[in-house]
Amino acid sequence: MKKTVSFARDAINVFFHILTSCNLKCRHCYINPGQHGYKTLPLTTIRNWLRLFANRSKQANVVFLGGEPTLHPDLPRIIEEARALNYQSITVDTNGYLFNDILSTVGPGDVDYFSFSLDGATDKTNDAIRGTGAYDTCLKGIKSAVSSGFSASIIYTVSRANIHELAMMETLVKDLGVDRFFIQVIGIRGKPAQNGQDHLQVSNTDWLAIVPSVAGKIAGLGIIVTYPKVFLAPGETFECAGLVAENYFIFPNGRVYRCPLCEDFPLHSLTIKNDHLIPTEPVNEMDLFQLTIPEGCVMNRLVQPGNLSYRPDGSPENRIACCLLKEEITE
Ligand code: SF4
Ligand code: SF4
Repeated sequence: MKKTVSFARDAINVFFHILTSCNLKCRHCYINPGQHGYKTLPLTTIRNWLRLFANRSKQANVVFLGGEPTLHPDLPRIIEEARALNYQSITVDTNGYLFNDILSTVGPGDVDYFSFSLDGATDKTNDAIRGTGAYDTCLKGIKSAVSSGFSASIIYTVSRANIHELAMMETLVKDLGVDRFFIQVIGIRGKPAQNGQDHLQVSNTDWLAIVPSVAGKIAGLGIIVTYPKVFLAPGETFECAGLVAENYFIFPNGRVYRCPLCEDFPLHSLTIKNDHLIPTEPVNEMDLFQLTIPEGCVMNRLVQPGNLSYRPDGSPENRIACCLLKEEITE
């Protein structure tokens, strides 16, 4: 069954970058330490910042990210803190290297999901993007997590460099025994923006020809599959998550964004100072969310317009959905 997942009005989603350092140097890495800081946040700060978003009246979910979050020596204590604060779900996004023996220091009852980033069905394609040895290590990490009783997801970031192997993921996902498969689309921020890699963006034609059908086949295995909507169908309503949902993307330098496409710029609408959440002065991302343009998402038009095309009269052929709008397919 396929459905567009509307933005949750009754949940708070916290994407918490607890550090920016990483052992890998992926070609499409969106982390931009010049904008996000170089710090590894201490446990006490992380606890205080988690408190800011642990709203008792709404369900709060947290995803710990980096950099590579398992490099943080206090990750087990951080997860404990999130549980004590009643976060409903706790996810750790990892490149699969699973540092600090993390699978032995937390249990399946502590972490709802480990989400593993894998960008190819073969080592050739994945390692060309993520670095030599990343494929084998990630597969080993997924197998260890699953055999230790953890729920695991795979995140596959689609670009022109790997869309040709997406269909091959069906067999791999089945063999690995993961619960969820997330298809992402490459964002032109961080390294792709700095290195002029906008040619890696996938066209509407390729996206629609490949992604929904692969997602459907993998969902047929009993695995939950999500992928970003990207292109709105004619007549579909455009909504900006920054106006109607509560997503917070937190970085170690205290910047808090509501929109991931703004993260390369000092456009954050909130800052954490002395453990208090403070609105930033205009102009910030909130001012951009209010703008209505025929292309749909304003930030997509500004930072990654390579997925837009126009008719001879200048009108856009497609409107771009909010990058946070997902399609979910279940069996
Ligand atoms: S594993 Fe993640 S944080 Fe590390 S370099 Fe790759 S994309 Fe960036
Ligand atoms: S991606 Fe576009 S639509 Fe979504 S929050 Fe950002 S500006 Fe709004």
